Amino acid sequence: MTGIEVRSPADGSVVGVVVDQQHDVADTVARLREHQPGWDESGVAGRARWLRRYRDWLLDHEDDIARILQAETGKPWAEATMEVPYVADVINYYCKHGERFLTDDTPGAHGPMTLTKRQRAVHRPYPVAGVITPWNFPVALSLMDAIPALLAGAAVVVKPSEFTPLAVGAALAGWTEIGAPPVLACLTGHGDTGAAIVDAVDYVQFTGSTRTGTAIATRAAERLIPCGLELGGKDPMLVLSDADLDRAANAAVWGGICNSGQMCTSVERIYVEAPVYEDFVSRVVARVRELRQGTDGADRDGYRYDVGALANQAQLEIVRRHVDEAVEAGAKALVGGKPTGTGTFFEPTVLVDVDHSMACMREETFGPTLPIMKVADADEAVRLANDTPYGLSATVWTRDTRRGERLARRLEAGAVNVNDVFTNLFALPLPMAGWKQSGLGARNGGAHGIRKYCRSQAIVSSRVTPRAEPMWYPYRPLRGRLLRRLTRLVMARDIRRRLG
Ligand code: NAD
Repeated sequence: MTGIEVRSPADGSVVGVVVDQQHDVADTVARLREHQPGWDESGVAGRARWLRRYRDWLLDHEDDIARILQAETGKPWAEATMEVPYVADVINYYCKHGERFLTDDTPGAHGPMTLTKRQRAVHRPYPVAGVITPWNFPVALSLMDAIPALLAGAAVVVKPSEFTPLAVGAALAGWTEIGAPPVLACLTGHGDTGAAIVDAVDYVQFTGSTRTGTAIATRAAERLIPCGLELGGKDPMLVLSDADLDRAANAAVWGGICNSGQMCTSVERIYVEAPVYEDFVSRVVARVRELRQGTDGADRDGYRYDVGALANQAQLEIVRRHVDEAVEAGAKALVGGKPTGTGTFFEPTVLVDVDHSMACMREETFGPTLPIMKVADADEAVRLANDTPYGLSATVWTRDTRRGERLARRLEAGAVNVNDVFTNLFALPLPMAGWKQSGLGARNGGAHGIRKYCRSQAIVSSRVTPRAEPMWYPYRPLRGRLLRRLTRLVMARDIRRRLG
């Protein structure tokens, strides 16, 4: 077995080693399959009990998990401590509503054929779900999908990113530590391990790049298994002249630079109506200049820094290319613009004089950059916002909330926050779905968030059981004509056809 070294992006030091478990996938999934029926039979209430115990364990070990997260991601302490509370909220939400979400649907008869039948739609879990995740929010992204799958009654195998497998491994170890049934496993490895999981499970939930998502969807289609894809984005921010510029500038800076810009729903490009452009830009620049960048920690100077490192060298090179190419093509970096020279830190950067021929406005940057473009009016902002293959989320800024919501309906994005950033991520009753190249299917969205891990089964029972139904053999002319008359009487909506 080969080992994978996990390095701190902040200083390049080795912070752990994991095994490449590509060849363990088949056995692990087979074991999960053995235990899944018992897990399913334990019922929603039984499963929720385990998940609540697991929530308590996670909260008790929050700092330990955050320390590991910080070491492998280079996040500042404030951001390393965001993930476990998010997961606790997800557990609470699904445990509170799971029973209702998974209750059989019992629709009444919609027509004469089912008048004497009892109809049920039953939600039965896929036996094993694979959850494959990226490096930007390793714990939150792994568990926010694993939890509804587990509560649905599925067994789950999680494959964290090869760059950040340690905190996920530590968090999932808690499941074993509380003595929960062995229906949750973690397998570490590169993309090949992920591909082997896609080949072994019954449902794949993937979060990551559009390129990998496309490969997974192709393979899932060949196997005829469903997959949910949460992919990349190039989220626009539209600032209208009547916006609260102070709040909008604060939001742009946090929304674009939080987690070093490595957030699927980061503000990646900003369009500002001409009358407030200069004012908005100067507020953003002032805020960005105040940001403190570096490595803090729980034990030494927690909350000392706002901005951490990028996750790896490849990510740094993407950000550098987007900024360098823009500057070469005539853009200006009003603040930042280059790596700091330490680890994979890149200076928080504000770019102006940008246009849509530049990679920084078209490709996902996933870095601490804020390219800002002046537009004539809201129509131009909407047109440019939609000029992208992505459609993850967007934000609109105006004091006229109704106008903001009307503009939201013209945006091609799975979520729009009006006068806010990221809040939709916390709105678990709403679907989180990438449109266009940003995804397939949705996570969350109330009952959908848990039912997606289930196959629906229709169960129809006869309440009245004569020797034979009128439609059955043998066919007789009199009965046939009578049936046709009755059918028309019920189906048609006008007198002539009813009686004809
Ligand atoms: P990635 O696609 O390179 O890797 C993601 C995961 O897929 C890793 O665990 C990797 O090992 C695995 N993988 C790679 N090749 C595979 C294959 N052929 N089959 C199965 N698994 C395979 O993504 P990344 O660079 O780790 O993450 C960054 C991307 O994630 C960005 O594009 C970002 O926008 C996206 N993202 C999206 C969301 C969302 O909810 N929409 C959230 C966070 C991140």
